[in-house]
Amino acid sequence: MPSPHNVIIIGSGPAGLTAALYAARGNLRPLLIEGLEAGGQLTLTTLVENYPGFRDGIMGPALILEMRAQAERFGTTIVHGNVTSVDVCASPIAVRTSDAEYHCKALIIATGASARLLGLPSERGLMGRGVSTCATCDGYFFRGQDIASRSSAAAIRRWKKRCSSRSSPTR
Ligand SMILES: Cc1cc2nc3c(=O)[nH]c(=O)nc-3n(C[C@H](O)[C@H](O)[C@H](O)COP(=O)(O)OP(=O)(O)OC[C@H]3O[C@@H](n4cnc5c(N)ncnc54)[C@H](O)[C@@H]3O)c2cc1C
Repeated sequence: MPSPHNVIIIGSGPAGLTAALYAARGNLRPLLIEGLEAGGQLTLTTLVENYPGFRDGIMGPALILEMRAQAERFGTTIVHGNVTSVDVCASPIAVRTSDAEYHCKALIIATGASARLLGLPSERGLMGRGVSTCATCDGYFFRGQDIASRSSAAAIRRWKKRCSSRSSPTR
């Protein structure tokens, strides 16, 4: 067996790439397995306005490319693959994808989440262009507009608050 990686990170969204940046700068030469959604959820959106350092906002895919390049600059190796199983009881830890097996001393799982969509035909096409899965991120864009929300009661209350008193009633 080849010597194990110091750190393997599963997931290439902001969390995985942040972990990779810090591990790489700690000279741990991390291996990052990017998963089926390379770059994670931010690649699905358009303008991101709530990240510090981008006064005029930045497009989601561009932001992810920057994070990726920054992680690679310090020595992160990024590989394609979707992890199908891990054995954390093994020493070193075994991480399997459909076509490879890796071993590591430490494992960081940053596999994120996915929004539960309604399944409407137009939903994906309009994602980031009127359809949103994140009130915290996108409420600001919809100030003063009619909105429709499908969510838990608590999330609807938060959405209403973020859209402020200037927006029309939520339906
Ligand atoms: C349309 C949209 C717009 C958004 N807009 C904003 C915004 O404006 N501002 C904001 O702050 N947030 C926004 N968000 C939320 C933001 O994208 C998420 O909070 C963020 O991406 C979470 O990062 P993460 O790294 O935890 O996970 P994710 O981005 O979900 O990444 C998960 C990663 O794990 C990988 N993965 C999963 N399973 C496996 C596996 N078995 N093997 C290998 N890899 C795996 C995936 O391929 C992916 O790379 C938006 C989300 C969406 C969907």
